[in-house]
Amino acid sequence: MIVSASTREVERNDDRRGAFAHVENWIFDLDDTLYPRSLGLHEQLKRRVVAFIADHVKVDPVAAEAIHLAYYERFGSTLQGMAERHGAAPHEFLAFVHDIDLSALVPNERLISRLAALPGKRIVFTNASRDHALAALAAMGLSDVFDVVASIEDNGFVGKPHPSAFEKLFISHEIDPAASAMFEDRPGNLVIPHELGMKTVLVVDPILHRDPLSVGYVSNHIDVVVTNLAAFLDDLQFKHECGNNSALRARCIENWSIK
Ligand SMILES: [Mg+2]
Repeated sequence: MIVSASTREVERNDDRRGAFAHVENWIFDLDDTLYPRSLGLHEQLKRRVVAFIADHVKVDPVAAEAIHLAYYERFGSTLQGMAERHGAAPHEFLAFVHDIDLSALVPNERLISRLAALPGKRIVFTNASRDHALAALAAMGLSDVFDVVASIEDNGFVGKPHPSAFEKLFISHEIDPAASAMFEDRPGNLVIPHELGMKTVLVVDPILHRDPLSVGYVSNHIDVVVTNLAAFLDDLQFKHECGNNSALRARCIENWSIK
């Protein structure tokens, strides 16, 4: 029997997976989480960020990239560093860096159906601009799937992992962190969700990370590591709907196999 990498990971995380039964709020990062990083959008975005910094700060591309990386690490987003240190206008920065080609984004029918079937509130929580989020979701056929699209504008351009960004999200949309799960590609953005009692899922790209379970991704603040989000949601919903009743489980298996 051929077992995919994602299936193996789901099996290895089986005991943790059961802990998702109480989740009412499904919160997803957008970029590199709802689509794989290997599609190349991140690289496009990075080139635009470096070009913006080079022009705004009047430095060469090498120095601009160093500034980008330093601010990304220190502030959690390059925008914050550019705004605080160089007076960059947030709207101008966001419009420039998100002017990228989204043609690599296409609908993934399995992911669309699994996201749409999640019980409770479905939320996108991104450090990107609202315009970018809506355009990317539209390209992926996900415009009607989410109840909330929370973007960097919503908290005065201060995004994850700053605690105020999470606080703003929870208060604005009456979300109980203890009944929520967070899906992210940046491990650092899962520290606060874990501290607040959320279930945390790190989504990694198997093309870029051949063996994500062996390279230090699993830590105390991460409950599950998955390389195929649709497959993981498949499995969660199977468990949710079928439970442990053997007769019901057999019928569920039959139902799922024809979907
Ligand atoms: Mg991301």
